[in-house]
Amino acid sequence: MDTNTATTTEVLQQNIRQQRQKTDNQSYASLLKKWEYHFRDRIDKILLDAHLFDFPITFEPFEKYFSGFDFQYFTFDNSDHKDLHGFYEVEDALIKIYYADNCVGSRQRFTIAHELMHVYQYFDHEFQVDIEAIISPVIRKLLIERLADKSAAYYLAPLPLMAVQAQKTCNAIQLAATFSISPRAAEICLSDYGLCT
Ligand SMILES: [Zn+2]
Repeated sequence: MDTNTATTTEVLQQNIRQQRQKTDNQSYASLLKKWEYHFRDRIDKILLDAHLFDFPITFEPFEKYFSGFDFQYFTFDNSDHKDLHGFYEVEDALIKIYYADNCVGSRQRFTIAHELMHVYQYFDHEFQVDIEAIISPVIRKLLIERLADKSAAYYLAPLPLMAVQAQKTCNAIQLAATFSISPRAAEICLSDYGLCT
């Protein structure tokens, strides 16, 4: 291969990489919106169907939705791995949720909800198809995690309840205490629900 051909190939490869990056970035933005609404809708239905639309929200409605599956919860200390808050395993009809318990209760609740949302993602075939269309593993992971965070917040502080509470206060710390969630999760809900703007 002469120098010119090599350069042309490099330029072409670079163009392809840039194009893929651009496609991934566009996919990230549109898929985030698409699945944000989808999961919010599903979560509201899960809570309504369970007739347990009351706070603080428990994980019973989610477990009820996945009836036929057994849920087991395990704790661990993440002192040596601060970034690891939780993970899940699906073994036939058994769903195992692992969460770090050496942190405040609201953080533990958020981790459990986050992992349960990964379980929902895992069983959602259409979601898996969309995710696999993303070329970059970094962007793919980013989207999966961001949606699990958002969905966890939607689950723990659903719109109908948050709308009522937001009429009393827009203070994220106070709302967080009401719903037993973190102020960050309360902020996500206020912003995504268009409350207190
Ligand atoms: Zn995660």
